Amino acid sequence: MTDDQSSPASAPQYETQAVHVGIPRGNGVGLGLPIQQIAAFQFETLDDAAQEFQSNQTHSYSRIQNPTVRALETRITALEGGSSTVALSSGQAATFTAILSVCRSGDHVVATSSLFGGSAGLLNNILPLMGITASVVPNTPEAVQAAMQPNTRLVWAETIGNPAADIADLTRYAQIAHARGAVLGVDNTWGGVGYLCRPLEFGADIVTHSLTKWAGGHGAVLGGSVTVGEAHDLSGNPIYSEGSPTLLEARGPSALAWRQRWFGAHQLGMTLSPHSAFLIAQGLETLALRLSRECETALQLARFLAQHPQVAAVAYPGLEQSPHHALAAEYLSGGYGGVLTFEVDDPASFLAALQTVRIAPNLGDTRTMVVHPWTTTHGRLPEAARYAAGVTPRTIRMSVGVEALQDLQADLAQALQASRQTTLQQG
Ligand SMILES: *Cc1c(COP(=O)(O)O)cnc(C)c1O
Repeated sequence: MTDDQSSPASAPQYETQAVHVGIPRGNGVGLGLPIQQIAAFQFETLDDAAQEFQSNQTHSYSRIQNPTVRALETRITALEGGSSTVALSSGQAATFTAILSVCRSGDHVVATSSLFGGSAGLLNNILPLMGITASVVPNTPEAVQAAMQPNTRLVWAETIGNPAADIADLTRYAQIAHARGAVLGVDNTWGGVGYLCRPLEFGADIVTHSLTKWAGGHGAVLGGSVTVGEAHDLSGNPIYSEGSPTLLEARGPSALAWRQRWFGAHQLGMTLSPHSAFLIAQGLETLALRLSRECETALQLARFLAQHPQVAAVAYPGLEQSPHHALAAEYLSGGYGGVLTFEVDDPASFLAALQTVRIAPNLGDTRTMVVHPWTTTHGRLPEAARYAAGVTPRTIRMSVGVEALQDLQADLAQALQASRQTTLQQG
């Protein structure tokens, strides 16, 4: 996506962009992001106001656009290698907006089964209310291919699946979608805003994030984003190709991005607040530092757990024995993600015995957190769907924070030991 021939220096690296994009240079200009805690913006003349309401180039009202939110959007666009981003109030809002940007009543989505619970909820509960149906299929190109229908507008996958930590074969999913006039949407939350993976470079058309996770990074703020790349073909989608003028004729190459802002922010009002945008933009500045360390610690803990006699199975794509290791090597760089899942005999006594690690339903925090997906994040899904997502009654999902490896390993070791004693006493 970068044009190395025409520019003398290649595009700055991730870590450099993360701290500079969105902050202007100039004498006396603040070296940071101002929080523009402002609802409305003024105009000099009637013409100026009319022009802005047509073009949305600057600002009129913060439900639609705000300078602080805009600066965050610019940063995310750079980090994902995209062309445009709309930031929204949560990851859920981003997923919903991404789907509605290409689907309407009568349309169909093919989604892979290793989904964040909230995404599964949208597909199962909310989209049917609007006449949009979904097939949730195993995370393989064969299954995705077989599920495609003439009215399929969107293939939906997660870069690293939740919680099974399986890897989406992005290039092949993009080929399958494009061959049928559909687009590929990727929830790249676990890919860390382009740090571990940039799905647009593998053919994805839409990339979403829960910015609540690694972007915010400190468990302090909710947010979401939808980013689009330059190369997407919507000529086969009636939302874009029907009417006079068609949306493509009216909006040109930015039609998809325009519709996302129009839907998610303008019409539905799932808007990100300027203060939240500031916190997330600040989080992005250290994402690379945090996530690279979390990946390294996660790999060490995965190795430790894999050889532990009380751990039945460990799912982490960084392990050489992982069935997803080859795909992970193809699509991820800089690490294999900050999340691992493992199976213990007695999750209740294991979780109760943890002292440093916290039980909390979040990801990408500075603190290490565990959940029991069977009873929490995936608890509303039918049992068969839980198993299909890689969740069993014994599964523990752990999001690794920035604490010292030795403290985390010692805590897991003592909790496994305590859990074993409880089980022996009960047995
Ligand atoms: C958390 C999460 C979401 C939803 O994001 P919220 O900010 O909680 O609304 C979506 N996808 C993935 C992969 C997530 O981890």
